[in-house]
Amino acid sequence: MKGLKPLVICLLAIVFITGCSNKQTDSTDKNKIDIVTTFYPMYDFTKNIAGDKANITLLIPSTIEPHDWEPTPKNVGDIQKADLFVYNSTDMETWVPTIKESSSGSNVEFIEASKGITLLENHEEEEEHEHSHDVDPHVWLSPVLAIKEVENITAALVKVDPDNKAYYKKNSDAYIKKLQNLDQKFKVELKNKDTSEFITQHTAFSYLANEYNLVQVPIAGLSPDQEPSAAKLAELKAFAKEHKVNVIYFEELASAKVANTLAEELGAKTEVLNTLEGLSKKDQEAGKDYISIMEENLNQLKKSLFK
Ligand SMILES: [Zn+2]
Repeated sequence: MKGLKPLVICLLAIVFITGCSNKQTDSTDKNKIDIVTTFYPMYDFTKNIAGDKANITLLIPSTIEPHDWEPTPKNVGDIQKADLFVYNSTDMETWVPTIKESSSGSNVEFIEASKGITLLENHEEEEEHEHSHDVDPHVWLSPVLAIKEVENITAALVKVDPDNKAYYKKNSDAYIKKLQNLDQKFKVELKNKDTSEFITQHTAFSYLANEYNLVQVPIAGLSPDQEPSAAKLAELKAFAKEHKVNVIYFEELASAKVANTLAEELGAKTEVLNTLEGLSKKDQEAGKDYISIMEENLNQLKKSLFK
């Protein structure tokens, strides 16, 4: 037993450490600029542009809904020590303005990736939940708007680190080309669809729907884990019957209970549409990224758009 105890303590320590500091940093090279990004697409876009010229941190762990996440004082310190801080929108990362106010003594450059994009108003009726979005922040789920975000992040990187301008521009152009191909793929493969409507649990796909002439029918409002009212469920049931809905989409991060209940009642299948609000380290190491997940989303959508 003598030798076992230190081992157990050590294992506990590992569990404790990895459990606490589950933010993800790709390198800590002192000669590189430091960039902190909020949730996965911000990280992936930035990484594709910055390549090996930056230490990039993914702040929000993939296991936590970014809608519900709040920074710790340590997180705030990491942001203030960085050269660049990339977030999607103050309608998603609602805590950013407070941090910005308290960061006047810091050199960190704040970049709102969705800058210049007209955000859609949220017309969802208010259901009972803790917080709601006035506008819809999910712009990254449209490949066309993702390009705009990449352009904004590129401009910020060039501003912070002008010596590497040519490198960033080259990477950015190459990545934008990939996003244009993704957009083309959606256009071509959805061209002859049989129907435009799809049912989702989390209304994250309005920008994607607008881009490809689809109609997203939400089960609940914009925030996940929100139980719809009985009236809303009845309305959806009638809609699904009328439009012969055979698939109901839910997301991995949120509870699938509502989607499963409705699917069962309608005899429909449940499928995953990934909002990319988080991507596990394991998935990233398996080679998954924004583009591959969006291709998966396209294949998933085809299951209900083609009868
Ligand atoms: Zn969301």
